Order: sequence, then C-alpha cells, then structure tokens
Amino acid sequence: MGLTPMMNQYLEIKENYKDCILFFRLGDFYEMFFEDAEVASKELELVLTGRDCGLEKRAPMCGIPYHASNSYIGRLVSKGYKVAICEQVEDPAASKGIVKRDVIKIVTPGTYNDSNFIDESKNNYIMCIYLDENSKKASISTTDISTGEFFNTCFEFRGNLVYDEISKFSPNEIIISSNADSDFIKELMLYTSALITRRCVDYFKIIEEDLLFSHFGEEVRELDDTSGGSAYALLKYVIETQKMALSNINHIEIYDIVDYMIIDANSRRNLELVENIREKTKKGSLLWVLDRAQTSMGSRQLRKWIEQPLISRKEIEKRLEAVEELYNNPFVLEEIREALKEIYDIERIIGKISNKNVNGKDMVSLKISLNKIPKIKETLKACNSSLLSYYFNEIDEMEDIKNLLENSILDDPSITLKEGNIIKDGYSDEVDQLRGAKLHGKEWIAALENQEREFTGIRSLKVGYNKVFGYYIEISKANYSSIPEGRYIRKQTLANAERFITQQLKEMEDKILGAEEKLTTLEYDLFVEIRGAVEEQISRMQKTAKFISELDCLTSFALIALENNYIKPIISEGDVINIKDGRHPVVEKVIPRGEFVSNATNLDNIENQLLIITGPNMAGKSTYMRQVALITLMAQIGSFIPASYAEVSICDKIFTRIGASDDLAGGKSTFMVEMWEVANILKNATKNSLVLLDEVGRGTSTYDGLSIAWSVIEYLCNNQNMRCKTLFATHYHELTRLEEEIKGVKNYSVAVKEVENSILFLRKIVEGGADQSYGIEVAKLAGLPEEVINRAKEILKNLEDNSVYSSKSEIIKDSNTTNQPVKEAAITEEQVAIENSAPKVNKKNIEENVQLDFLSLSKENLIKSIANLDILSITPIEAINKLYELTKQAKDLI
Ligand code: ADP
Ligand code: MG
Repeated sequence: MGLTPMMNQYLEIKENYKDCILFFRLGDFYEMFFEDAEVASKELELVLTGRDCGLEKRAPMCGIPYHASNSYIGRLVSKGYKVAICEQVEDPAASKGIVKRDVIKIVTPGTYNDSNFIDESKNNYIMCIYLDENSKKASISTTDISTGEFFNTCFEFRGNLVYDEISKFSPNEIIISSNADSDFIKELMLYTSALITRRCVDYFKIIEEDLLFSHFGEEVRELDDTSGGSAYALLKYVIETQKMALSNINHIEIYDIVDYMIIDANSRRNLELVENIREKTKKGSLLWVLDRAQTSMGSRQLRKWIEQPLISRKEIEKRLEAVEELYNNPFVLEEIREALKEIYDIERIIGKISNKNVNGKDMVSLKISLNKIPKIKETLKACNSSLLSYYFNEIDEMEDIKNLLENSILDDPSITLKEGNIIKDGYSDEVDQLRGAKLHGKEWIAALENQEREFTGIRSLKVGYNKVFGYYIEISKANYSSIPEGRYIRKQTLANAERFITQQLKEMEDKILGAEEKLTTLEYDLFVEIRGAVEEQISRMQKTAKFISELDCLTSFALIALENNYIKPIISEGDVINIKDGRHPVVEKVIPRGEFVSNATNLDNIENQLLIITGPNMAGKSTYMRQVALITLMAQIGSFIPASYAEVSICDKIFTRIGASDDLAGGKSTFMVEMWEVANILKNATKNSLVLLDEVGRGTSTYDGLSIAWSVIEYLCNNQNMRCKTLFATHYHELTRLEEEIKGVKNYSVAVKEVENSILFLRKIVEGGADQSYGIEVAKLAGLPEEVINRAKEILKNLEDNSVYSSKSEIIKDSNTTNQPVKEAAITEEQVAIENSAPKVNKKNIEENVQLDFLSLSKENLIKSIANLDILSITPIEAINKLYELTKQAKDLI
C-alpha cells in the first residue's frame, strides 16, 4: 500500500516545517496528523482520531474548525509552540486533482500579533543574539512586529550583560547563533522562559545587504558585520514566518548598553519594577503605581521607561520639566488626558496595515484617533517646557490621512473585507452606481409582490430569497386553485407551498446579484487601495504615535505626582543622594493611608558612603533600602518622587542583593546564589553605582557570614575605584563598630519602642546602631506559642549569664560603637568574636581573628568534653575509643 496523494502532499510540506505544528487546511477544518496531532490533542484537549493515509495503520489526527482557529493558535503559541498555517492556495472547484496547498504564515511566540489575544499593555518581543567568531562580541537585535520597533546593540561579550538585556526586554522568543556554548545557554534559560531557536552561524552572515537597506535605509551605515548580524538574521526570520516584509519595521534604534542605567536581572526582580516577585503580575510593582496612561501605547512606553532609566542629566531634566509644567497646569493636564482617552492603539493598527490584516473597523479606530490629535496640539501650544514644545512642533496632524479615511470608509463597516459594506457613498462613482442598481432591483422586487398579489388576488403571496434558488414567488397550498395558468414557472414544492419564478424575476435577480458581486469585489479592491495609500504614510504615523505615547507617560507622571503628593527631584552633578521624608512608592499604597513613616537618606561618596542599617526583623530595613533605590530610579526616568525634598546624583547602575531566593533549578544553593550576586556587584560597581546589600552572609554559618559581610564592607569602602554608595542591612550588630574604623561608614537603625514585654515598630531610621535584636519579641508578635516564647527567654538568659567568655563585659565597656550602651545580642559568640578583634581592622586581621577564635572555642570544647566524662559508667572499650578521639582532637589543636 502507498500513501494517499493528499498524505504525500502533507508529508512533503511538513518536511519543511519540522519544528512547527502544521495546521493543514482541509475544507472548513485545519487538521493535524501524526506527532503534531498527538501533541495538539493533548495541549488543546481535542479528541484524537485517525485517518486512512494509505498505510496499514491509520494516521493519528485531530482537527479544529478554521473559523475558531485563532484561539487555538494563541493557546499553542503561549505554550511555546510554533504553528505553521497551511492553506489551500487555489480554488478547489477550479483545480484538477489535488488542491494546491502551501504554508502562508508561521505563528511563533515572538511574532504572534493577534490583537485579540496579546496583552496590549506589553510589547511582544522577539530577540536575536549573535556571537561573533571568537565569541568576543555579542550583537543583539530585538523587535516587536506588532509595533515595528526594532532595537540593536553590540558589546564585548559577557554572559551577564546578555542576561541583563534579556531581562530588560523579556522576549517571548530568542534566536541565537549556534556557536553559543551550552553552559551559556543553560544559564540563559534561567533568565527567560522564551522559546529558544538556534541557527547556524551562517544564518547571521550578511549576504543580501539589500535586506537591511530596504528596511532601514541609510541607518544601516552604522552597522558592521557583527552588529548587523543579529539585525540581518532577525529580519530574515520575520520574513520567513510572516512570508512578507513588514513595512512598519522601517527604523532601527541603535543603542549602547551604557546609554541607560544598568540594572541586572536579579535587581530588576528584587526591586519589583514591572512585576511583583511572587505572582509575577503587575500589581504591587513600581509600574503598577506609575502607570495611569490613557492609551495602551502609553502603558507600553512607560514600561520601557522603567526598564531603561536615563543617565543623561539633560534628558532627565527635559522630562522632569515637562512633568512639572503639567503638574502646575492641571487644566492642561486634564485636557490632554481627555483627548488621549479616545486614542486607539495607533502603533498596532499600523502593524496590521503592514501585515495586511487590518479591517474596516481598525481604519475607523485610526480615524477617530487622528481626529483627536488637533485638540492635543492646540493644548500643547500654550506649553513652554522644551519637551512639550517639541511635541507641539513635531506632532503631525495627518490631515490627509484623516480626510482619506473620513471620506472613504463607512463609520460602521463590516468586519470582514469580502462582504462589502465598507466604502462610503460618494467616494467612488462606480460603487454608487452599483449600489443604485442593487437598490433599484430590490425596490422592483418589493413592488412585484404587491403587483402579483393584486393580479392573482392571493393575499398571502410573497416574494422570498434563498441562496440556492435565488428570488422566488411563494404561494401556499390553500391558494393553488387561484394560480393563473402559464404565468409562473414552477421551481420547488414544499409541504405546504409551491415556489415559482418568472422570466422577468430571474433577469432582475441577475442584475441584483451581479451588482452585488461586483460591488463586494470593488469595495475590497478599493479598501486595498486605501490601505496601500495609508501604508505609504506609516513612518509619519509612527513618529506621531511615539510622541503621543511619551506625552501619555508624562501626563501619567504628573497625575500620579498630584494624587500622591510627589515632588520634583533635583538632579545634581555632585555625588549626593539627599532625600528628605522619602517614602516607598508601592508600600505606602498598600498599607492604610497615612500610616507610612517617611525617612531621610543621606548618601555620598565620602563621609556617608556606606550606611549600615540594623534593627529587628520586620522593622523596615528592606523597605527603606528599596525605597532609596526606587526613588533614585524614578528620578532618572523623569518622574516626580515620594519625598518632601530630594537631590539625586545620577546613578550608572543599581545593584541589589536582597532576600534569599533559592535557585534549586539552577543547581545552586542559596548561599551560592548570594555569593554569586555579591561577586557580580564587587566586580561591576563603580563610584556612581548604588548598591543595596540586604543581610549578606545570612546564608552560611555565623562566623563565615559575619566575616564575609565585614570584608565586603571593607572592599566597598577602601577600594578607591569602588566607593559606591551602599546601603547595608544586617542583623550582625557587630558590624556597627566599623563606623569607627572605616571612613565613610555610618550606622543607622530602625527605631523600635519597648512596651510591656513587647515592642512597637516605629519605622523611623535613626542614627546609630541598634542595641538589641528583639528576635523573641518579633517571634511573639508572629504568634509563636507563649510556652515557646517563655522558654526561649529562659535560654537566652542562660546563654547570656553563663557565657564562657568572662572577658566579655570588659570588651563591651571598651567599645563605644554606638551612642547608646550596647546590650547583649542574642548570639553571644558572634559578638565576642568580633569584640576580640584588634581595633585596626583589615581583611587579614579578621581572618586571623576569626581563626584564632575558632581555636579557643575548640580548646574550650575539648576541656568541656574531658570534664564531662563519666568514667564510672563507660565500658573499657568505650574508654579506649574516647581516649583515642580526645588525643586526636588535642593533636589538631597544637
Ligand atoms: P525588615 O527588612 O527590617 O525585616 P521590612 O522592610 O520587610 O522589614 O518591613 C516589614 C513590614 O513593615 C513591611 O512589609 C511594611 O508593611 C512595614 N513597613 C516597613 N517600612 C515601613 C514604613 N516606613 N512605614 C510603615 N510601614 C512600614
Ligand atoms: Mg528585610
């Protein structure tokens, strides 16, 4: 037995789309076969059946009706599959033998642009990463085909930097050159859930220069073989999947990664910039607070601004001044926001135009949007700030496009393009004539009914229409006797009636149907023509859409500032971050109004370079640190900030090491992740960076942790090239003595108040280290049983009283690390270990001291073990074993 011809055709096509699920059009269905059917039936919960394919075993098969395909495609794509849509590309009626079929489009996670299913407030990016021959340089291009944005950058290859770009864009699909090694890709997969496609290095070699040129024109002069490699491959891939070149991709934005603040992937996550850590949703993120944009273009733009804070003072100030002007003119603000409200997603409508899947309704949305632009321009006319005046000058009212759409497309056109009802009366004489003919014919038919009723005297006679027989005259059974002889031609007999036609009726029907058919074809052709005319103006529309989206962000900032009582930060050339009454923009929104306690911050590169922040758990240390980072970041995206005053010097990078998120999937322990992140900070921070270290060292034993924390602080402060502004929250109270010893270190703590056996969090950051950790009090607040709490207190007291280190109290007397008398901490050994250390501290010293202390501790233990031996109760064998063990321990200590 051989394969059936259709199966042959299927397999031939499938051969070219091995990595896709092939939707094979059969009549009104898309069918999937073999493995595709097995996968799709599982993923889409479809019934798996079989079909004779000419082989012994039936081919597994499942199918979906073509008109419902969109949602199925969306589901597969969101699960990371690629779907190849194979259509019948000739009229089945006209074809001899098997109908010709071909793939007309490949839908992939990164090129999916069905506006009914994609999130309008987010871009859908596809990224292409190319490593040059020796993996010296990485070139990255990123595009969103639904908006036409296309970005390109190139830098000395370092894995981290690539991961940073990935976390900045969060692409849904990544194409990567096959010379990237597998460790790098494995690591990369920790930062993204994108579908990753590898392509051989040749795929990135620019062979047809025209391809780049046809999209970007002269702009391509700035690209070389490496930097252009990713752009070239990405364009090729888009064409491969869309089966056409997209006219909305017509501008390449070439950037350098240092043009923006560098925020690594972990810090983006930790700071919850665009999504919260737990649920990965927008709620509770900075974006959630700042995004009050009226248009989806604005929302997407705002997200981009947050992902890419500026580092140019001039650019930042331009935004801030615009926000200030809007803030000071609530009337202007309101007018602009009102107008923006009615603007649709122009960028994505343009995307549909270039993808040729725009419909009449989209064109009407475009027209309505363009109608609002003059109003915006008029309002901007009165504005003085440089950015708003710039928008006033640059925003294009696009009168011509608007007029074209106004005159040509009906206000309420049908959704499909092949059923007519798109073109307005008066736009085309031919359309008007055909409509006239159609209307005239219909009137004639309506008149016929009356005329025949009168003639025959049959009151129930009626004229009807169906697709099979066209127009007919229907007479019910009861009236058969009244039918005049020879007047009608019998066409169809029903149970209760007969249907007739006449020569004249058929002639008129031909005219009507002919006109109708011509009309729908003509309307379609005209629509395509109009679409083409609009398409030619795409780049004008894109420019204005971009200005509109930026204006939307600025008005959103102004509104938030008014509502939340934000102020304009001063962007300074110096090295200070000086914030008065700063608040955490998100936390203040989620706790009851007015309950957030504001705090000041004073950081610089000399006297106040590293702030050690102590205080009990839950006191507010982490919140405070993030607040400083978020305020800095907000200032650098041009937003007002939650404070009463702020002077912010520009930060080139923000680093955070916050919380212990286990990375088991990556095969690393918590501590390993922590150290890896700290290492990254120490390697990459500069004096213009802001570093947040939250409880570094927590992931390992007390001594190790403390020593690491200590030497990290020294490194950050003593290393002349570093000296970055740092906030260091810690539960190691011992670190507070570093204030005395290292220039630039300052102690702060979060105040708490003791009240009747419990504590009250004051949330106020005060100078000086904390004097107590209040661990047990916090545990009590958390609801640990009374019994456990009381017992813990007892143990603590014992530990404190019976400390083996009798010298302790003296040491405490010696030290005056804080203004307040230092009470004993819960973890006594730690404290003593540090208190013992020599006053002049350097890294070597700490190590020696810690080692020394281990020694004394071990000796102490050995003595204890000997003293505790109960000679009378052990057997001789046990005694020998014990003796052996003790001598071994003793030898180790010599
Ligand atoms: P820590 O890091 O010291 O353990 P967090 O920063 O996690 O404490 O703060 C614990 C909780 O305290 C936060 O979830 C928040 O609800 C509240 N909080 C923190 N800072 C403030 C503040 N300044 N004003 C009011 N509530 C605060
Ligand atoms: Mg914390």
